Amino acid sequence: MLIDLKHIFATDNSSLPIEYSLDLSSTEVSGIYPLKKPVTVSGTVSNKASLVVLDAVITYEYDAPCDRCGAETARTHTIRLNKSLAVSIEGEESDSILTVPDMKLDLDELLYSEVIVSLPMKHLCKEDCKGICPKCGKNLNDGKCGCPEKEIDPRLSALAELLNN
Ligand SMILES: [Zn+2]
Ligand SMILES: [Zn+2]
Repeated sequence: MLIDLKHIFATDNSSLPIEYSLDLSSTEVSGIYPLKKPVTVSGTVSNKASLVVLDAVITYEYDAPCDRCGAETARTHTIRLNKSLAVSIEGEESDSILTVPDMKLDLDELLYSEVIVSLPMKHLCKEDCKGICPKCGKNLNDGKCGCPEKEIDPRLSALAELLNN
């Protein structure tokens, strides 16, 4: 969706509420589609003493298998946006300034780019997920599996047998 901000740029102390949701369910991330629910944004664009500011919160749900145990896990993440909007930038580009050359804000593009750069590096069903036993495949969050905790060196076990005899 394109939002026309000409009126906001032209009018001191004006503001425009933004409530929007975008379907990113076909966005592939490492072979899966974790953004099953629409991504939403809620906030305002306002002109404060001729400075046009976007103040909004993006909310998205990341729904994917836990990195350690594989359990389907959905977690909600929020991104706080606080950007100045400018028709052109003088000098260096900055993360806090968003250029809108024709005074139109492309919300789809903004949401997509903000969500993509903020996707979680680590996605766990719980902070202390114990994962899966590499030997028997049991989910260790359900309890211990009975496999020996440490791999015993075969030479040591031969020695142990010898000693036992
Ligand atoms: Zn887990
Ligand atoms: Zn095991």
